[in-house]
Amino acid sequence: MQSLPRMRSVGLIGAGKMAKAIANGILSTNRAAELSRDKSIKVMASCPREELLRALPDDCRSTTNNLETVENSDLIIIAVKPDVVRSVLDEICPKIDPKKHVVMSIAAGVTVSTFEEALPAGTNIVRVMPNIACEVREGATVYYTRGESNELGQITQAVFAPISPICQRILDEKLMDAATALSGSGTAYVLYIIEALVDAGVRQGFSREVALRLATQTVQGAARLIHDSGRSPTELKDYVTSPGGTTSEGLFVLEKYAVKSAIHDAVHSARKKSDVLR
Ligand code: NAD
Repeated sequence: MQSLPRMRSVGLIGAGKMAKAIANGILSTNRAAELSRDKSIKVMASCPREELLRALPDDCRSTTNNLETVENSDLIIIAVKPDVVRSVLDEICPKIDPKKHVVMSIAAGVTVSTFEEALPAGTNIVRVMPNIACEVREGATVYYTRGESNELGQITQAVFAPISPICQRILDEKLMDAATALSGSGTAYVLYIIEALVDAGVRQGFSREVALRLATQTVQGAARLIHDSGRSPTELKDYVTSPGGTTSEGLFVLEKYAVKSAIHDAVHSARKKSDVLR
């Protein structure tokens, strides 16, 4: 991880699934780079549930006191559920120093203006939408900040690029909700498709274990084909679909059940849900 002068310590408010994924990602990057103690990024997390704090990596400091996290961190990442964000901001606001702190939020649907209203004037704010695959350094992340600050972009890249091969700045905040629906929630859609393939494989006579390995590798291989060939999914799909063949039969059934429309609707509904969360 790049060591930016001001960002020596990261404090996570919340210690759930995403906070753990980010903490694991940052700390494993520290370890992989074999950074000396003074160069590595310190990570601390807080939440009211001690059992979640105990599940964090050993080199992540933890506390049940959010203010302690703020006092010990340069970069504060708000990783609580959207409906808790406002009360957390009210709690930490007195300890936020706009000259020292950058506040980053990964909460779905909560806009930058919510943070501006709740925090001291001039606080640097970044809205980020990662996904759970950050845990295995395969995340897809987008972020938004007001203005054109390169430094905030660099800080975001420093934290997320090592755990997220895509870490893309977005210029229109409305697209943050679209990203939440597409890539933030998208891991679950792909897992749902893998689950369906596994069930279908079991129905055809495979053990669940073999069906899972086949389905998982098939999804991984398809993604790799797109990535490595630079060809579109449509091109690659047409390439593997022989006239009158088995794949064509399978695709016909997916069309008949309007699977593509269902995915459109799923992403659209997920995006609309962001409006309700704020
Ligand atoms: P989670 O339920 O696993 O974790 C929430 C954490 O917040 C828990 O540790 C909980 O104890 C803690 N918490 C609750 N009240 C608190 C308080 N007052 N102070 C400090 N901590 C408090 O949720 P998650 O899935 O990790 O989601 C966290 C955020 O990340 C959400 O806003 C969500 O929109 C966003 N997000 C989630 C995903 C995902 O795939 N789960 C992906 C992208 C973004």
